[in-house]
Amino acid sequence: MNTALFHWAVRRLRGAWRRWSLWTLLVALVAAMLVTLVWLAGRYEASVVQDQIERDASDAVADIRAALARNLLSLQALQTLQAGSSGTQRWEAQAVALLREHRELVRIEWRSPSLRLQTFVDSPFHAIEWANDVRVEPHSDTALACANARRLSSPAYSSSYFQPHGDGLGSELVEFCIPPSAGDRDAGYLVATYSLHSILTEMVGHGLTRRQEVSFTEADGTRLALVGTARRSAHMFSARQLLDLPGNTLILRMDGWHTAPSLFPNVLTALVTAMSIALVTVLVVLVRDNRRRLRAERELGDAFAFRKAMEDSLVTGLRARDLQGRITYVNPAFCEMVGFSAEELLGQSTHLPYWPPELAEEYWRRQKVRLAGNAPPREGFESVFMRKDGTRFPVLIIEAPLINAVGQHTGWMSAFIDISEQRRVEELSRASQERLQATARLATVGEMASLLSHELNQPLAAISSYATGSLNLLDSARDADAAHVRADLGEVRTAIERIAQQAERAGRVIKSVHDFVRRRDRAREAVPAQELLGDVLPLVNLQARKLGVRVRVDVEPGLPPVLCDRVMVEQVLLNLARNAMQAMDDPAITERTLDIQVRRAASNAHSAWLEFSLTDGGIGISEETARNLFTPFFTTRAEGMGLGLSMCRTVVEQHGGFMAHKPHHPRGTVFTFTLPAVPQEGHN
Ligand code: ADP
Repeated sequence: MNTALFHWAVRRLRGAWRRWSLWTLLVALVAAMLVTLVWLAGRYEASVVQDQIERDASDAVADIRAALARNLLSLQALQTLQAGSSGTQRWEAQAVALLREHRELVRIEWRSPSLRLQTFVDSPFHAIEWANDVRVEPHSDTALACANARRLSSPAYSSSYFQPHGDGLGSELVEFCIPPSAGDRDAGYLVATYSLHSILTEMVGHGLTRRQEVSFTEADGTRLALVGTARRSAHMFSARQLLDLPGNTLILRMDGWHTAPSLFPNVLTALVTAMSIALVTVLVVLVRDNRRRLRAERELGDAFAFRKAMEDSLVTGLRARDLQGRITYVNPAFCEMVGFSAEELLGQSTHLPYWPPELAEEYWRRQKVRLAGNAPPREGFESVFMRKDGTRFPVLIIEAPLINAVGQHTGWMSAFIDISEQRRVEELSRASQERLQATARLATVGEMASLLSHELNQPLAAISSYATGSLNLLDSARDADAAHVRADLGEVRTAIERIAQQAERAGRVIKSVHDFVRRRDRAREAVPAQELLGDVLPLVNLQARKLGVRVRVDVEPGLPPVLCDRVMVEQVLLNLARNAMQAMDDPAITERTLDIQVRRAASNAHSAWLEFSLTDGGIGISEETARNLFTPFFTTRAEGMGLGLSMCRTVVEQHGGFMAHKPHHPRGTVFTFTLPAVPQEGHN
């Protein structure tokens, strides 16, 4: 029981461990999934923001390019005015109007073909201190741009340069030079100065500059002009676009800070949704698992309790052994039967404490045979065990191989039934049977008494006549001479010898009855059939002579001896013979023959049987009689006891044989019974 509990506990622990590891795995998986989700969402967000900023940068560049192209047209119109003869004042008025309109322009100059400053207009929106006297001659960048423009015969930009303001600050500026048209070389150059900062504020859409920082940089990253809020964060996004102008290439850089604000809500929503789904799923799975587990546990508990109750209430002892013969399990009934506790028995394999010492060797041999794999007889076998107090008791053992759930032979299972009580009852019934048989025998004897008197009559009458004859001879001898006396004495001697013979005969008759009644030997012995018949025939003949029955005996030659309780079988024969002769005691029946036959019955390799049959030509057995034939105290005769046949059948069955009867033709009955014979050489 303890081992069963231990195994059960181990199984439960294993189950709990498996459940815990499943849980850990689940939590790890969910965590991994969430981390991956956040990371992927972050990456996606970042790529979206990066795309957006790239798009914004290229939009900004396109805007600037379009605005510069528009400006070019206005400036070209101004140059046309310059080439005409409308005068300086008109040009200046136009230029001022242009500067008011386009705040990105800082200054417009009219320079002669030799690049000398003719006239200029400054933007009212920019407070730059121009050193006009210096600027009479072209600025180096201006000269370069104009040289370029002339060479290309199209407008060109200078590289940017820093122009200080009066207030200590300054602006990054770019010169834009429009060369005179090919037809009018004397018209001179129109030079417009752009402020890079103003280009960004004026030409780039406000939407773009509000959300991000837009700047012009040099190739090495130095910022030339910057617009927008410089908000810093851990995750900055940045895009660069080239603004290539004739004579100058600028880099437009855009820096964004769209990190958390747009990323967080999306990921959070996704996270919450994913986690909710995961949680609900886990919960459903958990509830289902829990319910299933509870049910399984309940069923297991029920089955366990039922098994235990069954084991505890069994009166049959149960014992399991493994393939090495070690006891692995005993139930309480077995412990109670042998008086040893389970602890004293478990694990034992040789010379078990309940084996009687005198039989231990034999049991050990039997166990070895069993362990060698020989299946025990299905119907079980009887054995003797010893209780703890030393008393022996008989048990019936039924053994079977122990096959586990996967069909593997793991040992032997045995069931034990204490058959002491059964034995006691059997003993009682045997004793009462014996008493009954003795009674039946006495009844036979009673019947025989009349036969005896009849039979004894003959020898007694003979004795008495011999005695009378002898007396007469003795009387006559008194008067006779010596010679006659001698002759008479000889006759007297003969008569006395006859008397002795007859007395002996009478004695034999009485002895045969006496022997029959007194014989007590119950042991089974091998007796030739002939001898059995020889013992009962004198008694049979007694009655046969009285009833005028001819007795014929026919024993098949070469029969093996019968293995039987001699006295009882003789009584069976006597009873059947007597019944047969009584059945023929009818005035109508003249042909009175009793046939007694002994033959070999069906035999096989393990056993041999003899069949005895007694055939009479009597009145036969009616159906009514046949139904009650073997019932004790059933008789049709006035002086009968009705015990004969029931006793006969009991005796025959005790020997393992069977008894039957059938009608005989043309009249009478045949009674047959079988008895075991001693197996012959070569038959076993
Ligand atoms: P009992 O001889 O004391 O009557 P049995 O048990 O020997 O008791 O026989 C029971 C009855 O069976 C007899 O009374 C008789 O009627 C019947 N019976 C037995 N043997 C024969 C037989 N060979 N033929 C006809 N009837 C028989």
